[in-house]
Amino acid sequence: MGQEKALPIKIQGVTKTYGSVYALNDVDLDIHSGEFLTLLGPSGSGKTTLLMVLAGFNRPDCGSVRFGEREIIRMPPHKRDVGMVFQNYALFPHMDVAANIGFPLKLRGLAKEQIRPRVDEALATVQLEGYGARGVDQLSGGQKQRVALARAIVFNPRILLMDEPLSALDKKLRERMQIELRHLHEKLGMTTVYVTHDQREALTMSDRIAVINEGRLMQLDKPRAIYDQPANAFVANFIGESTLLPVEQNGGVPSFGGVALKLAQGNADGELLLLRPERLIFLDDDDKAEFNRFTGVVREVVYQGESFLVYITLAGGHEVAVRSVSQRHSIAAAPDVGDQVSLGLHRDETVLIEGSTEGGMD
Ligand code: ADP
Ligand code: MG
Repeated sequence: MGQEKALPIKIQGVTKTYGSVYALNDVDLDIHSGEFLTLLGPSGSGKTTLLMVLAGFNRPDCGSVRFGEREIIRMPPHKRDVGMVFQNYALFPHMDVAANIGFPLKLRGLAKEQIRPRVDEALATVQLEGYGARGVDQLSGGQKQRVALARAIVFNPRILLMDEPLSALDKKLRERMQIELRHLHEKLGMTTVYVTHDQREALTMSDRIAVINEGRLMQLDKPRAIYDQPANAFVANFIGESTLLPVEQNGGVPSFGGVALKLAQGNADGELLLLRPERLIFLDDDDKAEFNRFTGVVREVVYQGESFLVYITLAGGHEVAVRSVSQRHSIAAAPDVGDQVSLGLHRDETVLIEGSTEGGMD
């Protein structure tokens, strides 16, 4: 077990069409050995299709997939050394828990005496000791998910694929399982490709995130970089909350509302200014040189428990939202509707993005 058993995955030029629909459109993706990589995208973006190409259940129209040095595009699923957790678990209802988990070993021709201890070990790994004789229908959703996971790892695959494995669980259990899966990955060290449409889940769990939309790779990077420096308007809108405002570019000097923007170094390209509610603050009248300042009028204040969301109409007519943490002992936690306010965005958090606001991105 451990890192030396993991394999890198190299996906090159993979396209898959269904009639006129491009489920995957010329996807290139390098997945590092032993990393936890998440495919993140909206429903219908091609996540499952790509995972099925890796698992061997789906043959692309063209392209190449290599596990390590080996081209595997024509290799049948059971020869790929890949563990898979399907979206709906796909457990065998007529088998007990132990038989479900032992199935991949049986398929590989192991004898009963060899299977037994490995099933027990897998049960222990997913914290289900003693559940071997249970029927699948006697399990809760979370337990079924663990059995599916145990079945996927019982033969020590070098690659683990998971398709929205937590989507059927309630929020609390899902958040606990996210941490558990992360720990399990650290322990087992196999290259893991994880699919979700939940951006927070992706940010929580991943070493890197591959954002996909309409069968295309939009951005591949670490969670922080995806959030702080989205490559385009799609990524900015899909991950986190954001407003994108059009900036004027005059000879390499971007400005908004006639005022030149102060920017983080090396970030003067792009037509859109990224404003995230939690990155904006209310400024007083003192000049704060490191902030870009925007003035406007409060249109609405929404109390959300841990924070207020304040909607502001800027002087030029654009709408932005500001998140302001609600503290019990802070008297002026939020302004009132109709107040004239100044918003500040720190220069280091002033990010421009390529693209336009047209096309119904928000
Ligand atoms: P995701 O998992 O991101 O929700 P999928 O990979 O399941 O998306 O699907 C990507 C696109 O391919 C969608 O438009 C979907 O309708 C289409 N698609 C997937 N599988 C098939 C199929 N077997 N036949 C026809 N269209 C399909
Ligand atoms: Mg899917």
